[in-house]
Amino acid sequence: MQLSALRQRLRALGALPLHEDRILRRWACAQPQAGGRVPLASFLPKPLLAALPGLVEELDGLARVASLHPAADASARLLVALADGQTVETVLLPPERAQAVCVSTQVGCAVGCVFCMTGTGGLLRQMGSAEIVAQVVLARRQLGPAQPLRKVVFMGMGEPAHNLEAVLEAIQLLGTGGGIGHKQLVLSTVGDPRLFERLAALGPGDVKPALALSLHSTRPALREQLLPRAPRIAPAELVAAGERYARASGYPIQYQWTLMAGVNDGDDEIEGIASLLAGKYALMNLIPYNAVPALPYQRPDAERAAEMARRLHRRGVLTKLRHSAGQDVDAGCGQLRARQLPPAAAGAPQPLHWRPLPQG
Ligand code: SF4
Repeated sequence: MQLSALRQRLRALGALPLHEDRILRRWACAQPQAGGRVPLASFLPKPLLAALPGLVEELDGLARVASLHPAADASARLLVALADGQTVETVLLPPERAQAVCVSTQVGCAVGCVFCMTGTGGLLRQMGSAEIVAQVVLARRQLGPAQPLRKVVFMGMGEPAHNLEAVLEAIQLLGTGGGIGHKQLVLSTVGDPRLFERLAALGPGDVKPALALSLHSTRPALREQLLPRAPRIAPAELVAAGERYARASGYPIQYQWTLMAGVNDGDDEIEGIASLLAGKYALMNLIPYNAVPALPYQRPDAERAAEMARRLHRRGVLTKLRHSAGQDVDAGCGQLRARQLPPAAAGAPQPLHWRPLPQG
């Protein structure tokens, strides 16, 4: 379900814009529709009032928690069942720095990053904007009112740029009635010229998200190997487009670098990152890879990762070493989902998206 279609339905039931906004706001904030001081019957049009219980049930059915997997680091992975039986993963991130949720934007993914085991799974279907927001509603229900959600990162299963209109529609609601600060809405992407064009065209009333760009290598040929079906943008072009957006939006770009031993942890990459990012309005997130049995990639040792971060700092690149949330409960997005599929459907390898989860 798309939010635009939901708004049309509300209008057909006699809703005025303020009614639409109220219903969507209360839903996105996980508040009961009947809450508030004024009884609904005193201001909602009768057809809308009559349809509301069915609508609430439908919204509740968009995404349900199929299973919850708390981790030792206070994060929790949710296997989320959608109305058609498909499942995606949603992650509640550890609360130390920002109470955040990581949401999925597609069922599966077409990009096929080689370290994420997505290749054979591919894209199963797009998610509607309402399904994307529904994951935030689930997160808010899990957290409860005592732990207000402050951040939503679009880094779960799927490539947001491949489902851009739905993602932007979800961002618009979350950044207005949904009560999340615009800078705290972080769209993570491998980069796509159409995405940058679309973001540049956002108007004054549009919510502009912060961007996380998956770089992973400064060598064009290696990046093409690692992200085989990502748009062909050279790393330098990607950084140039990111910098324009950072300056226009006022939010620094978070560059994501899944760090794999012997692949992209060499001195040449340190030099490449320094020459691309020094002086840029940017933050580099180095995320040591979580090894997966079916894939040949390995995590570099902790000292090498720390040394890279130190050297990048010295070269003028603000760098953070990040760790994946919930490493004790299937740290790769898609692992929970793969485990609940029958073997034939699961195939091998499985979609195993894992991108870094920013925690700041
Ligand atoms: S890492 Fe993200 S973009 Fe790459 S295949 Fe996995 S889900 Fe898709």
